[in-house]
Amino acid sequence: MNKRQLEELVEIFGKDNTLSEPEDLMSYSYDASHAEALPEVVVFATTTEQISALMKFAYKEHIPVTPRGQGSGLSGGSVPIQKGVVLVLDKMQKVIDFDPENRLITVETGITTADIDPIVAVANLFYPPDPGSVAFSTIGGNIAENAGGLRGLKYGVTKDYVKMLKVVLPKGDIVTIGSKCVKHVAGFNIEPIFVGSEGLLGVITEVTLALLPIPAHRESALAIFNTLDDAARSVAAIIAAGVTPSTMEFMDNTTINAIQNFKDCNLPRDAEAVLLIETDGEKGSAIGEMEKIKVAVSENGARDFSMATNASERDLLFEGRRVALNALANVKPNLILEDATVVRSKLPEMVKGIVDIATRYDLQVGIFGHAGDGNLHPTFLINKNDSDEMARTEKAVKELFELAIDLEGTISGEHGIGLEKKPFLEDQIGAAGIAVLRDIKRTFDPENLLNPGKMFDFTPV
Ligand SMILES: Cc1cc2nc3c(=O)[nH]c(=O)nc-3n(C[C@H](O)[C@H](O)[C@H](O)COP(=O)(O)OP(=O)(O)OC[C@H]3O[C@@H](n4cnc5c(N)ncnc54)[C@H](O)[C@@H]3O)c2cc1C
Repeated sequence: MNKRQLEELVEIFGKDNTLSEPEDLMSYSYDASHAEALPEVVVFATTTEQISALMKFAYKEHIPVTPRGQGSGLSGGSVPIQKGVVLVLDKMQKVIDFDPENRLITVETGITTADIDPIVAVANLFYPPDPGSVAFSTIGGNIAENAGGLRGLKYGVTKDYVKMLKVVLPKGDIVTIGSKCVKHVAGFNIEPIFVGSEGLLGVITEVTLALLPIPAHRESALAIFNTLDDAARSVAAIIAAGVTPSTMEFMDNTTINAIQNFKDCNLPRDAEAVLLIETDGEKGSAIGEMEKIKVAVSENGARDFSMATNASERDLLFEGRRVALNALANVKPNLILEDATVVRSKLPEMVKGIVDIATRYDLQVGIFGHAGDGNLHPTFLINKNDSDEMARTEKAVKELFELAIDLEGTISGEHGIGLEKKPFLEDQIGAAGIAVLRDIKRTFDPENLLNPGKMFDFTPV
């Protein structure tokens, strides 16, 4: 980028919100995946209008722009592989309107996910999607990745709560789409196209989110198993018993021990697997559901079923699950985390397949994840400098995706495609599917300047 272009950016964002010194750029060259690339300039937006001006500048000067929330993405989405400008949104944190009567909140998208609940709790409301990264990811990043979380089974994922969006389109136009109303059929239903768009179609600057009343009561329990298969079968058995837990998280022996080494969360080191289960609602129904769950897991081989007796016991169990990824990161120098997803009834086949793949390629794997959603995170624990191990891991990952597709599942339940899964997307949606994505991209961003190089290859005509 030349001096004049840099000066134009400083004019839009101010000196304090524009970084171009090499030592300042490093922090914006990676996310939580393996991808890395240095931007030429980093800008911090504080208004939608600045972002509109940036996109007009980018189109005029033909400069790529990569949106970034907190960079906690696991698929390389915010890594600027074609250089240009990284646009950071985490200074846009205003609460624009809290509307408890209509159970809605409108916020700027740089707000941290976990910051929403304390604001809305005063009216006994909560925002259900809670990714493991809730303490640091932004709502904008959650929308762009359609993030899931620990409560997905009962409460769904980000897309289920997005009512209205303000978006800066790639050429700089500002649009407001969707509605605060319960019903809205004026024009095409286009807001879902931005949810999960991974920063390729527009920069989302404001969102109106739906909220729900806080459940009156929660019951939490840990079901402990001597085999992976018993735990996996229990998941479908619980649903078959007519219960929908708010949380049903799976952790295998490798994950349990990694967590216990990281922080003592009272998990049984000798178990082959555990299910962390929570029910919520009116007290009687939450307790009644937990009783049915106890029966279902006992019939499927659980060796123990212990209920949390107070909030601190429950918080400790959930903390264990939330630190799982950090804990596994301590086992070996590197890890490759996947999020292949299947329907619940196929979970036992998926777990068996993962173990089989890891064994055949002689790899250490930790398996944890949102079992109730059929969304596991098989995590290969590796050393990137060991070229033989890396080659085996690449083959294992490819087989893992093939297995998910064979089981009519998906290569990504919540982490998105970005760079990491780009080579596998066509296997999932076919060449015709990729062609549709390209047509949509062309409509919004014909010059391919917003987050170029991600999800699929696209050459402007
Ligand atoms: C420990 C850990 C646990 C995690 N647990 C979960 C989990 O349980 N569930 C889950 O779904 N994910 C999880 N993640 C992944 C990650 O936190 C989510 O994908 C999250 O939504 C990313 O938010 P972010 O603000 O960090 O976005 P970034 O990583 O900064 O960006 C992600 C993508 O969104 C785009 N983007 C960001 N903001 C905007 C915007 N305002 N407008 C347009 N595009 C934008 C970027 O270009 C990029 O493509 C976890 C990650 C970690 C490290």
